[in-house]
Amino acid sequence: MKIFLKTYGCQMNERDSEAISAQLIRAGHSITGSEADADVMLFNTCSVRDAAERKAKGKISYMKKMKLRNPALIIGAMGCMAQRLGESLLAEIPHLDFVLGTGQLHRLIPLLEEFSARRKRFAAVEPSSDVLEGMGAHLYGNFSAQIAITRGCNRFCSYCIVPYVRGREISRSMEDILSEARSLVAQGTKEILLLGQNVAAYGLGGNVNPPPEDHSPFADLIEALDGIPGLLRLRYTSPYVTYFNRRLIEALAHSRTACRHIHLPLQSGSDRMLKAMNRQYTRESYLGYVERLRSAMPDLTFSTDVIVGFPGETEEDFRATREVMQHVGFEQAYVFKYSPRPGAKSATIADSVPEAVKEERNQILLADLADRIARKLAAAVGSTVEVLTEGVSARNPGRWTGRTSGNIVVHFEPVPGLEAGTLRQVKITRAGAVTLFGTLI
Ligand code: SF4
Repeated sequence: MKIFLKTYGCQMNERDSEAISAQLIRAGHSITGSEADADVMLFNTCSVRDAAERKAKGKISYMKKMKLRNPALIIGAMGCMAQRLGESLLAEIPHLDFVLGTGQLHRLIPLLEEFSARRKRFAAVEPSSDVLEGMGAHLYGNFSAQIAITRGCNRFCSYCIVPYVRGREISRSMEDILSEARSLVAQGTKEILLLGQNVAAYGLGGNVNPPPEDHSPFADLIEALDGIPGLLRLRYTSPYVTYFNRRLIEALAHSRTACRHIHLPLQSGSDRMLKAMNRQYTRESYLGYVERLRSAMPDLTFSTDVIVGFPGETEEDFRATREVMQHVGFEQAYVFKYSPRPGAKSATIADSVPEAVKEERNQILLADLADRIARKLAAAVGSTVEVLTEGVSARNPGRWTGRTSGNIVVHFEPVPGLEAGTLRQVKITRAGAVTLFGTLI
């Protein structure tokens, strides 16, 4: 069958969709980019914000026309929204054939074959840890690949729906991850991005308390991946700040492959807001972790996630967030305006901050960020940086892009024989708003 697969949401969903595509191809199906050509349409949905759900529902509803033209067409919804809504989504969208939850993705092919034979609508949303090992397939051939090392989350931040739609935190076996990484590198992968809602909690059995200073299975994993010849770079997202103990910091500082960039969600700089969000650290302890990381790796760059307008956020709370962001000097940040998620704990609290105030605070942080980045990039002009080449620039076919270990994008003129996935030195000649420009040396 020809399968059209549309993915919404985060890197975890992207990775799930890649694994599903690889499994479908192995089972003799093909992936098509054309909706008109498809025998099966799959929507891997997101539930992180109301807008994400409305977008997917709108798209699936629009497919009614396709189904009227082709009654044999099969339409399925998967992922976080499918998990959250389950059977009710089938009731809401009568032309939807099945709903597959986040714990059942590894069973797509047998369930699809059964539906093709019997055309009986179903919703499979039972949690299952089998999904962990069943989603390791890859579409090889790219210099960079993602490996999911954990699924789910046990932290229950009050604004977040993830623990309810992705289940309890479970870690894959280290041997399973290493064999997946070895086969990727054998197929030409040079950079691996480790994925998890909470990657640094890897191997801790879902324990949300910070591990002892000398214990970090995540550090063990990084050291084991360092041992794979041919792997040039290792990235990981997202770590929770309280897992950066001495063992992990030392492992990162001495790692051959781990990049000098950490995405370290802050969410707020106000202790009052952090408590209301059920984030298990304070402004001071967060800054303490940043200090420890920086003293071990002075060239480390940071990005972060921040929420503005959480219920009850005052001007003073917002100022505290702004101060912490200035103090850390984040190179990148994803700023989100708070929106209540049905099912998350904070949905029971009145959404008290007016939309206009959320937008104003959002714009202030983005302006701070743009100013800070422009100054940091301008300071890099004249320096030489090492990049991992990525390929032809999406915006300018006459240029290539690469990325520094610090996760800064660099544009440069290619030379004959240049390959993606190679480490090259670039002399920086110009700074753009968010990227650098230079010459290969
Ligand atoms: S750590 Fe918090 S914000 Fe992140 S996925 Fe878990 S519950 Fe959500």
